Amino acid sequence: MIWIQDLDYLIQDAERVLCGADLLIEGDRIVAVGSVDPVKAEGATVISGKGKIAMPGFVNAHTHLYQNMLKGMGDMLRLKPWCEQVTFPFASIIHKEERETDEPQLGYHWAALGAMEMVRSGITSFVDMDIVQDGVLKAWQDVGVRGNLALQLVNRWVPKELMVPDEARKEKALGIIDRWHKNGKLTVSMAPSTPFACTPEFLIWIRDTAQELDLEIYIHISETKWEVEQAKEETGFTPFGYLEDIGFFEKPVHAVHCVCVEPEDVDIMKKRKLDVIYNPKSNAKLGSGIAPIGMYLRNGIPVAVSTDGAASNDSLDMFEEMRFGQLLQKASSRDPLEVSVKDMFNMATREGARMMNIDAGVLEEGKLADLVLLDDRGVHMQPINGVLQTVFYCAKSSDVDTVIIGGDVVMQDKQFVTVDETGIIDSAAGLYKEAKAQVGDKLDADF
Ligand SMILES: [Zn+2]
Repeated sequence: MIWIQDLDYLIQDAERVLCGADLLIEGDRIVAVGSVDPVKAEGATVISGKGKIAMPGFVNAHTHLYQNMLKGMGDMLRLKPWCEQVTFPFASIIHKEERETDEPQLGYHWAALGAMEMVRSGITSFVDMDIVQDGVLKAWQDVGVRGNLALQLVNRWVPKELMVPDEARKEKALGIIDRWHKNGKLTVSMAPSTPFACTPEFLIWIRDTAQELDLEIYIHISETKWEVEQAKEETGFTPFGYLEDIGFFEKPVHAVHCVCVEPEDVDIMKKRKLDVIYNPKSNAKLGSGIAPIGMYLRNGIPVAVSTDGAASNDSLDMFEEMRFGQLLQKASSRDPLEVSVKDMFNMATREGARMMNIDAGVLEEGKLADLVLLDDRGVHMQPINGVLQTVFYCAKSSDVDTVIIGGDVVMQDKQFVTVDETGIIDSAAGLYKEAKAQVGDKLDADF
């Protein structure tokens, strides 16, 4: 049991904030919020909440952790050349390592780096659309995070050297699902990267497999104007119209980006009960545009928020993402009423948890104990008026003091208790340097 005592504030969700509250955790669940009966809490480990704000852990609904090795690259590129010049050369390195060794190490390291960076920004759960490797999930197990590996599946458009036969691709995906889905805090989902990177037959296999095994589906859709024009030219439909036409939406999916949509796309989203995942910084860096989040909310379409990968962001910081995402909506609509702090905080907690099918995102009795303690004594935080607005507009990742995931303390007093953070950073940097040397100047940043 863990008893957190005398919190300055406890944010249960966007609507409910308590002052001077306690919180009790037993096993992986919250068993009391507000006041705690000392008899029930006998023998609990006590954590002081003085000078702290408790809040639900953030849910990062979409990222690509392999890109954690590609920070600080590829400015001034549009999406397609950015893929070709930034992400594909690294994918070649990964495939080479997989071919040459039975125990590839890169995956473990990028996944550990990403998981640690996310914990430091108060993220307790996330969906990582990533390259399929067991090492990725082993790293999350070691760090202690609640991760979902969205198996990134493509069978067209990528370079020839990255292509493998569909049967081998399917077999690898099914093996990962078998070993890791619902394994402790880890789950697996299916992620055709984009409509144009998969053949229709492959998309339907993904839909049917997800239906049969009860897995979520994540897919990038309508990220750029180019993608929409290309889909219309090739299929006669928008990407949403095309996927509806082939029956892909018979199982509802989580649609990542949705920047460039047309009125009939919104009708499809409503009819098929799709939801949207908003990546404001990535869409801004790649010049893709601004997703119309206020319009989705007014249409009753649920929205979550996420960082996307570190190559197009370049950080995994939910404070920055929420803030930037909300300010963009106000600025682009020229209306300060467009998207509220409460709306955006909900997207970063409750809505993300709902999309991931996890019983978290809110601090109340019976929910999973996925929570964060923030230091509220920093000069940038005081004095506190509205707590939620102070957290939203003023807090930084560096204020995250303690992170508890499923009742397990992962970070306390700003130190990881589960892994050797510095050791992992050093070995990841060494491995990356070796790997990069093998592809010459293909992965050099501008300077
Ligand atoms: Zn993405």
